[in-house]
Amino acid sequence: MTTRALDSSVAIACAVSAAQHERLCPRQVLGVRMGLAAGHALGLSLPRDDKRLLLLAETDGCVLDGVTAATGCTVGHRTLRIIDYGRVAVTAVNVETERAVRIVPRAGVRELAISFAGDDLPRYYAQVEGYQQMPEHDLLRVEPVALTFDLTALLGRRGTRVDCSRCGEEVLNGRELYVGEGAVCPGCQGGAYYQPCAG
Ligand SMILES: [Zn+2]
Ligand SMILES: [Zn+2]
Repeated sequence: MTTRALDSSVAIACAVSAAQHERLCPRQVLGVRMGLAAGHALGLSLPRDDKRLLLLAETDGCVLDGVTAATGCTVGHRTLRIIDYGRVAVTAVNVETERAVRIVPRAGVRELAISFAGDDLPRYYAQVEGYQQMPEHDLLRVEPVALTFDLTALLGRRGTRVDCSRCGEEVLNGRELYVGEGAVCPGCQGGAYYQPCAG
């Protein structure tokens, strides 16, 4: 069995993640390591309580509890967005410089984690241990990327609030569109994800 001193930032973030998730599962640990890798790659200290780091996550689920615990980025802080490709990947963006890196577990990390933790543990627990212990470079691929969309448009105009001229509901962050009669929310503009039904 390979024994390595655990990086304290890994241990702390795993504890925070486990506390909000009932227990620590392998995907949370991956999320913790991905979140910490975002800080390393962009030279940003973690966890953050400002909005300089934006995370674009490519799935929801356990991994994001780990990512959130490590980075402080949350949906509530508007520093975490889900672009649901169903992939365990996160793109981290320094919103001041627009420098971005995409972080994804390397192929074969499940087996590698088990070899780190030793095969005397059940597979699940070997992954929990191994993902905590593995060097970042063995665990994750971190690649510079350029965003293909307008970051300013994604972030919107923070703090703005107008009433939709059709439904009367408030529209935040500059998400309104302007048509003939004035500001209209995207839901009223057409193609809403729901429709009224009787009952
Ligand atoms: Zn889980
Ligand atoms: Zn509306």
